[in-house]
Amino acid sequence: MKRKYMMLSMMISGPKQLGNDIDVYLSPLIEDLKLMWDQSVEVFDEFANETFKLHAMLFCTINNFLAYGNLLGYSVKGHKACPICEEDIVSQQLKHGNKTIYLRHQRFLRSHHPYQMLKKAFNGHQETNGPPTPLTGVEVYEKVNNIDHTFGK
Ligand SMILES: [Zn+2]
Repeated sequence: MKRKYMMLSMMISGPKQLGNDIDVYLSPLIEDLKLMWDQSVEVFDEFANETFKLHAMLFCTINNFLAYGNLLGYSVKGHKACPICEEDIVSQQLKHGNKTIYLRHQRFLRSHHPYQMLKKAFNGHQETNGPPTPLTGVEVYEKVNNIDHTFGK
């Protein structure tokens, strides 16, 4: 009998950000996942009182935006930091506070959403264009295929 289990693994850093050192802490988890993907491990099910072979895979990660940059090597600062809009991004530097803001995100709302017509709440412009066209799998592959990334420790 095949069973499906979900396991939630969490890592919460302390007051100091790990930055690229996060890979030191993720390394044991990645090694375990590789082992459970390539082979299986014998696991005891306490509820059923029996052992079974466990295969595992990483389904998704949930992290804050800064950790996203550390995990995936994506730029999370500056004028091109939105991973959804990418080249189609519109950013602006605030006069006070020296912060970068990203505009035109109300275009991701459903068609005729009342927020799309709000000018004053956003940057003074209505947003009637739809969202950018998502990349195909081939386009994503072409973008990431030749990335030369040096991992941390
Ligand atoms: Zn965006």
